[in-house]
Amino acid sequence: MILIDGKKVAAELREELKQEVSKLKSKINKVPGLTVILIGELAPSKIYVKMKEKAANEVGLKSEVIRYPENVEEKTILEKINKLNVDKSVSGILVQLPLPKHIDKQKVIETISPKKDVDGFHPINVGNLSSGYDSCIPCTPLGCYLLLKNFEKNLTGKKAVVIGRSNLNGKPMTQLLLKENCTVTITHSKTKDLKGECLKADIIIAAVGIPKLVKGDWVKKDAIVIDVGINKTDDGIVGDVEFDEVSKIAKAITPVPGGVGPMTIACLLKNTIECFKKNI
Ligand code: NAP
Repeated sequence: MILIDGKKVAAELREELKQEVSKLKSKINKVPGLTVILIGELAPSKIYVKMKEKAANEVGLKSEVIRYPENVEEKTILEKINKLNVDKSVSGILVQLPLPKHIDKQKVIETISPKKDVDGFHPINVGNLSSGYDSCIPCTPLGCYLLLKNFEKNLTGKKAVVIGRSNLNGKPMTQLLLKENCTVTITHSKTKDLKGECLKADIIIAAVGIPKLVKGDWVKKDAIVIDVGINKTDDGIVGDVEFDEVSKIAKAITPVPGGVGPMTIACLLKNTIECFKKNI
């Protein structure tokens, strides 16, 4: 079994991005800017935003976090986004989810300019991705894709099973695998024989949110397993894959933590730089 080391691949990607930012700075005397909007006091959101800010600073991006209290009006957020949309020093805008209940998530997503939508959630970017056009790709599936390609260049003809159909992970992941000429099966909570589907797969992407759902006897020899899950349990953070069992069978597997997680943040930085390049 080969351990797909997300920490290492993400560090290499961040180094590449750092060099790119430095070149941009010396060539045009400008650096890409990432603005994150954080609403409320949710502890995980605060941690994620801190990690994003730190990573952005480390590669030399201009980074800004705008904080609002939990009871901020939706109108205030939409007005702020509209201002950021036309601010030339801002290349990427991210509104940290989840939002308080009184704020309409879809309205917020659709207010962010598709050209600055570093999360890739705007319907225009979703449509462009599914049509095979250039688009901003959601960071976690993009991270999974880069890990896969880093491990195996040619994915053509492989049978891939994606577990989970969320807009955040499962659906965009499916599009990326289709683009690589995989034959993709997307599964969800109503799938009848999930184990049977997984047993046919050369590639399994588990993005479910159920600790250790994918067992050793669900995976065929030579499968590549990408575990997106981040689940808090009494044993600490675990993925959606029973790592100890599956790692004995699979050809390659990502660990949790240290697999997809570090790639997600590195891909946010990558998306910010891509938006900057497209917008100038
Ligand atoms: P989500 O929106 O809750 O979606 C979960 C998906 O799993 C749904 O499509 C659901 O099916 C499906 N599902 C639920 N139970 C199932 C079962 N028994 N068998 C098969 N499918 C089942 O979750 P998400 O936002 O995509 O996140 C998934 C996991 O990834 C979570 O653990 C999350 O913490 C983690 N995550 C990690 C990163 C990272 O950077 N590594 C980033 C984001 C999320 P239905 O559609 O039928 O309900």
